[in-house]
Amino acid sequence: MRQVTILGATGSIGQSTLDIIALHPDRFELYALTANTSHQEMLRLCTRFKPKLVVMRDLESSKLLKRSLKGSTIKVLSGEEGLVQVVVADEVDTVVAAIVGAVGLIPTLAAVKAGKRILLANKESLVMTGALFIDAVKQHAAELLPVDSEHNAIFQCLPKGSVGQDAAQGLNKIILTGSGGPFRDTDLAELDNVTPEQACNHPNWDMGPKISVDSATMMNKGLEMIEACWLFSVDEADVDIVLHRQSIVHSMVSYKDGSVIAQMGNPDMRTPIANALAWPERIASGVEPLNLLQVSQLDFTLADSARFPCLELARAAWHLGGTAMAVLNAANEVAVELFLKREIKFTDIALLIGKVMEKTEVVAVTDLDSVLNADAAARRILHELVRQRARSL
Ligand code: NDP
Ligand code: MG
Repeated sequence: MRQVTILGATGSIGQSTLDIIALHPDRFELYALTANTSHQEMLRLCTRFKPKLVVMRDLESSKLLKRSLKGSTIKVLSGEEGLVQVVVADEVDTVVAAIVGAVGLIPTLAAVKAGKRILLANKESLVMTGALFIDAVKQHAAELLPVDSEHNAIFQCLPKGSVGQDAAQGLNKIILTGSGGPFRDTDLAELDNVTPEQACNHPNWDMGPKISVDSATMMNKGLEMIEACWLFSVDEADVDIVLHRQSIVHSMVSYKDGSVIAQMGNPDMRTPIANALAWPERIASGVEPLNLLQVSQLDFTLADSARFPCLELARAAWHLGGTAMAVLNAANEVAVELFLKREIKFTDIALLIGKVMEKTEVVAVTDLDSVLNADAAARRILHELVRQRARSL
């Protein structure tokens, strides 16, 4: 019986994970569920799944939930300390890291340092810290399993035990696929005026708002290129990004002998999550089997840098190294948040990230503080750029 903590249980990945756990009561038991402010949704999850503990990061929300759970045996904690407590607990062996953004870093790293099995959805934490994260996985003998569909696909196409190790012997390229998001065919001139609703309306995947916007700008693919480099110890030049509008081939590995191994399936996150939850076994996920006759056609085209400038920004950050990736990630998080609040245009996202990268000094990632300082500086600079622009209008 695996004891599971889900960080970000009320989100899209959290819900998909709970769906699979509900199918396998003989395999998984819920130790803890966490969220930030969604206390009503958490109350519903508590009634249905009966975890031992719940963490609401937001203090007010934890008080409200505590009140609603009065008389129940479920314990309610709050804050970052609460998040850390429910991942390092001795009883826990599996942690699903599905908080969105840099706020997921501290509890995810705590799970790594406690040597747990970590199902990594929160790519931002790995992108920010890179070698620091992977070294901690090795040092603490944690088991890192990628949940991001592309990385889970690559993981399935590489020999066993490839995460955090040197690139597989005989590897030619990793081929990362991406659908191109909702604006892959939109007139470039119209991108200035697209709305958050349009950006969040992904043609193939149903995801949280931040990653939906990242998919529309393709910063998601940029972050995923960096994620792949750290996970599989390869360089940016070893990762090709290919547009694949059907989202059926989730990524591929090309070998020196000419073989290309692809992982396919319907676009549904329950497949990679089930794969990682039960690994190395295979369990039912509730996903319909793929019907290739129905799909009938698979297209692959080049990702266009003029349409998707975020891809170049991510490549530049990887080559700059050090804290550049934390800067890229933080600037992107703030820009996406401002776009979702309608304070900046869609096309401002890449523009502002580029300006923040120009204005920040890259230093080596020596410890967690160097990353957190770079993250804070990038956020400050982006807000300042937006304020300056508002003043000059
Ligand atoms: P959602 O926005 O749907 O969910 C985010 C979760 O994180 C919620 O449970 C939310 O709680 C919690 N959360 C948000 N802010 C905080 C905070 N400050 N402190 C503590 N918890 C917080 O996101 P997704 O599920 O879409 O994405 C989660 C992660 O998985 C991201 O890193 C994303 O890149 C990655 N991922 C997602 C995929 C998908 O299909 N959705 C695919 C591949 C990767 P609350 O409800 O209270 O706000
Ligand atoms: Mg992905």
